[in-house]
Amino acid sequence: MSKTVVTRFAPSPTGFLHIGGARTALFNWLYAKSQGGKMLLRIEDTDRERSTDAAIDAIKEGLVWLGLDWDGDAVSQFAGVERHQEVARQLVEAGKAYYCYCTQEELTEMRETARAEGRPPRYDGRWRNRSQDEAPAGVDPVVRIKVPEEGETVVDDQVQGRIAFPNKDLDDFIILRSDGTPTYMHAVVVDDHDMGVTHIIRGDDHLTNAARQTVIYQAMGWDVPVMSHIPLIHGPDGAKLSKRHGALGVEAYRDMGYLPEALRNYLARLGWSHGDDEIFSTEQAIEWFDLDGIGKSAARFDFAKLENLNGHYMRTTDDQTLLDAMKALLPHLESGSEILSKLNDTRSQQVLLAMPGLKERAKTLPDLVDGCGFILSERPLALDEKAAKILTDEARDVLSRLLPGLKSVGNWTVEETETAVKAFAEDAELKLGKVAQPLRAALTGRGTSPGIFDVLVTLGREESLARIKDQSTETES
Ligand code: GLU
Repeated sequence: MSKTVVTRFAPSPTGFLHIGGARTALFNWLYAKSQGGKMLLRIEDTDRERSTDAAIDAIKEGLVWLGLDWDGDAVSQFAGVERHQEVARQLVEAGKAYYCYCTQEELTEMRETARAEGRPPRYDGRWRNRSQDEAPAGVDPVVRIKVPEEGETVVDDQVQGRIAFPNKDLDDFIILRSDGTPTYMHAVVVDDHDMGVTHIIRGDDHLTNAARQTVIYQAMGWDVPVMSHIPLIHGPDGAKLSKRHGALGVEAYRDMGYLPEALRNYLARLGWSHGDDEIFSTEQAIEWFDLDGIGKSAARFDFAKLENLNGHYMRTTDDQTLLDAMKALLPHLESGSEILSKLNDTRSQQVLLAMPGLKERAKTLPDLVDGCGFILSERPLALDEKAAKILTDEARDVLSRLLPGLKSVGNWTVEETETAVKAFAEDAELKLGKVAQPLRAALTGRGTSPGIFDVLVTLGREESLARIKDQSTETES
């Protein structure tokens, strides 16, 4: 039986969960799920100055919002320092690593000499075979790994293919600093091994690190996990992803009103494909996800595509879920709290009634909030520019003449209000638009809205008639 797949997401908590990190997490999650395995979360918090608790919380919140869960508790890399030191000691004892007592001055000189001679600035291995007896007094040494002098280190990458790194280019890098703290290179290997990680999926900016990490695995005689280095995300113009392109934290996408399932679908397609499928459920993504489907070239982030995809998810999400998502988003929007306080039970019911029409037109949740504006407006309605233009004296007169017919509607339904409005237009020899436009302006204060009969039903008889009367030339009730 093959081993259970264990993947991990290993963010450094120096900022929010940005969009590239979210995609890495998603790929690890999808792969683990597709294999019936586990995804672990490791917080790489060894850089004490740059790591913050706020960033750890934001990363976890981002994952939760995106619907990505991890198995067990998040692991703190910093908490494993003693274990990292122990492995470094074992490597020294096994003759696979050694103490180096070079001073900063020596290292600088070494680099400058190499540069002057046209060689790459590498550590020259001067402590590799020196006896500890020669150690200068009062100098805290670093621990360096012995990289084989000959041959090459091969990374057999599932995405990039077989990549061979000549060992002479890797030099004896540091695994433990002079203050006893591990370097990233060392801590990652020890942790991945101890956590039983079988598959590493991460950005291809870690590809050369993969070679150095392989040297440590081999020195310890540990199995090297299966590696997949995924191309980074670029902007639509092919340049490195910048803020302008969408290199934002996941919470920024939440605040822009994207649905987590839409973002999941979008990110899954960003660098991975399953034939020509563009829209698929998370269940399908789990069923289909494989390392072979990850592309070799940089994926391009395209806001317009994300927006269209989100529109699709908006249309196919049920009304109550959209209302809940909208309410959850409101506190994060400017003047959203005010809107939220107006959304009492009655108005929430009205939003639900209008939702089928609203979601057809909305690409994002803020579009939906905007579409609900007519429900939340209070009489007398403020008119937008278009509505004010529509409501000429003539249009107001039409509204006055329409009122009696509407008042006599028996059941306030889409069908009956439509029949009444159409009958009036016919009698008055007016095109339907000549009645519907003023009606829309009076009911919503706007030039555009969902279907006018839906609006009538959403607002209900009393409120509709009152709004029409407010804009009509009729004076007595
Ligand atoms: N902590 C590293 C980062 O955030 C990732 C390390 C890894 O995946 O091996 O870039």
